[in-house]
Amino acid sequence: MRYAMAIDTILCVGCADCVVACQTENNVPHGFCRDWIVENVEGTYPSLDLKFQSERCNQCNNAPCVRCCPTGASHIVEGGIVLVTHDDCIGCGACIEACPYDARYIHPDGYVDKCTFCIQRVDKGQDPACVDVCPTYSLHFGDLDDPNSAVSKAMKGRTWYVLAPEAGTEPQLYFLT
Ligand code: SF4
Ligand code: SF4
Ligand code: SF4
Repeated sequence: MRYAMAIDTILCVGCADCVVACQTENNVPHGFCRDWIVENVEGTYPSLDLKFQSERCNQCNNAPCVRCCPTGASHIVEGGIVLVTHDDCIGCGACIEACPYDARYIHPDGYVDKCTFCIQRVDKGQDPACVDVCPTYSLHFGDLDDPNSAVSKAMKGRTWYVLAPEAGTEPQLYFLT
């Protein structure tokens, strides 16, 4: 099993409903976020196009945040989801420095936090909160090893890119074009 997310950059309108849903579902403290929207301007004037990327932790297969964690707080669970055990985190910030995607932040309570692919929902067979609320159905989640999963179906026949492939982290967010 390999959990992944496909993000449709054609359909996304940058409404940030995914950000609000995440903050609510995961009690993300005011002023912080587990997901965010990046705006990309493509083309040359006057033929410009605005594309949106809903970004979060890439749940990397080869995760430097896990390798560098001195306490084992950052770890990988079944399905490839990268998690932080809050009680084991000493807030040293090594993982924040190691992440090429700036996906982690120090929670005001002293531990590092980030996107968990909403494992509390996935364990119950639900989609992550951001996927659930997206009004344009831009986000697709599931098991990449299952050809019938929502993420596999969404990627079928589409082109896609990942962020910073040169970092060698093997990210599991696929941006559909
Ligand atoms: Fe770790 Fe950053 Fe990759 Fe998430 S995106 S698994 S925090 S290196
Ligand atoms: Fe590990 Fe926490 Fe340090 Fe990050 S801040 S490397 S999760 S102990
Ligand atoms: Fe937030 Fe869950 Fe979406 Fe991750 S999968 S960005 S934790 S709502």
